[in-house]
Amino acid sequence: MTDAPSYGFDTLQIHAGARPDPATGARQTPIYQTTAYVFRDAEHAAALFNLQEVGYIYSRLTNPTVAVLQERIATLEGGVGAVCCSSGHAAQIMALFPLMGPGRNVVVSTRLYGGTVTQFSHTIKRFGWSAKFVDFDDLDAVRAAIDDDTRAVFCESIANPGGYVTDLRAVADVADAAGLPLIVDNTSATPYLCRPFEHGATLVVHSTTKYLTGNGTVTGGAVVDSGQFDWSASDKFPSLSAPEPAYHGLKFHETFGPLAFTFHGIAIGLRDLGMTLNPQAAHYTLMGIETLSLRMERHVENAVKVATWLENDPRVDFVTYAGLPSSPYHDRARQVCPKGAGALFTFAVKGGYDACVKLVDSLEIFSHVANLGDTRSLIIHSASTTHRQLTPEQQAAAGAAPNVVRLSIGIEDVADLIADLDQALAATTA
Ligand SMILES: *Cc1c(COP(=O)(O)O)cnc(C)c1O
Repeated sequence: MTDAPSYGFDTLQIHAGARPDPATGARQTPIYQTTAYVFRDAEHAAALFNLQEVGYIYSRLTNPTVAVLQERIATLEGGVGAVCCSSGHAAQIMALFPLMGPGRNVVVSTRLYGGTVTQFSHTIKRFGWSAKFVDFDDLDAVRAAIDDDTRAVFCESIANPGGYVTDLRAVADVADAAGLPLIVDNTSATPYLCRPFEHGATLVVHSTTKYLTGNGTVTGGAVVDSGQFDWSASDKFPSLSAPEPAYHGLKFHETFGPLAFTFHGIAIGLRDLGMTLNPQAAHYTLMGIETLSLRMERHVENAVKVATWLENDPRVDFVTYAGLPSSPYHDRARQVCPKGAGALFTFAVKGGYDACVKLVDSLEIFSHVANLGDTRSLIIHSASTTHRQLTPEQQAAAGAAPNVVRLSIGIEDVADLIADLDQALAATTA
């Protein structure tokens, strides 16, 4: 199908990027389980390697099943192209890779997924890159953190562990004034709830492991390009604007225009870093995306009901969910993600650390796991698991104080979820 922009989200989530298989007429996208593709002749092979013709060479770079997923995610985000990767963390490296170099830095929000905090605080230093962590509610601090070596600004739309929404337009304006791309991790919101490009973002990254796949089966990631950034406006992005030595001096921006970032991601990023998504995983994610809007509507509806119930329960100290009118981020959420504030939030149990441990051990439907965005409801007590190495002060700053648990609300019957929380909270006071 042609991806006419007039089609609605529910149509695009099923059809974008897909067409009946040209060889067999198969209606569903086949899993092209192949490593390599036969060249028509030597001339065809040369044209492919020169990027003069678009086609398939080797599945570390491109694969027809993965290509459908890339086009689908790009379309749902309103971007010009996407590169899929083996995980969300791979996508973050792939997004920064064309922009950064030794000595360069990225200005990032303090409110990020825990694994991203670790990747940005420690691991990227091995490449000579660094991250400056800033409170993104303080726009002057964001401006002040940007220096001559900054190459990108990074935040999450609805941020982990939930309850916080970034003012994307305000942050995009700061990045824009500094001539920098804004990268938004849109994992918790999904393009159904939030479209960062409409708020001025340049690139979107996803952990497709979460809501896009939706049922906790495969890891994957994606980098989506808006196609709006002028990589040649300054000399800050030579990999895209100047001759790229890693591809015999090709000038990506001059050659591919708005698709420069996407072509660079495939021709150099996937070729040399090899963080490739496999076609089997792409298939699972394509299956998930077909029902994204239906699931997100139910996730949000359930989250609002569970959060409201918890907020009114005397055994609960507070609930941080931007979907509640009591949240300081409620109005912002209505601007940034008008269809709902996601399904991820935290709440504090009056009995503190011991009560939280009792709670997670007493739940029957909720699973105690380090994951989110599953059809199943999930819970994690961060202070005794993912954040146990941190000091109590660091735990509190990360929204993971000892008395706090994080919920990822699934799409089960909401009455059952509330009954499960009710009996587990009763166990904490027994
Ligand atoms: C899970 C997650 C990641 C990392 O993705 P993986 O697929 O686990 O590598 C990054 N950002 C957010 C917001 C996440 O939830």
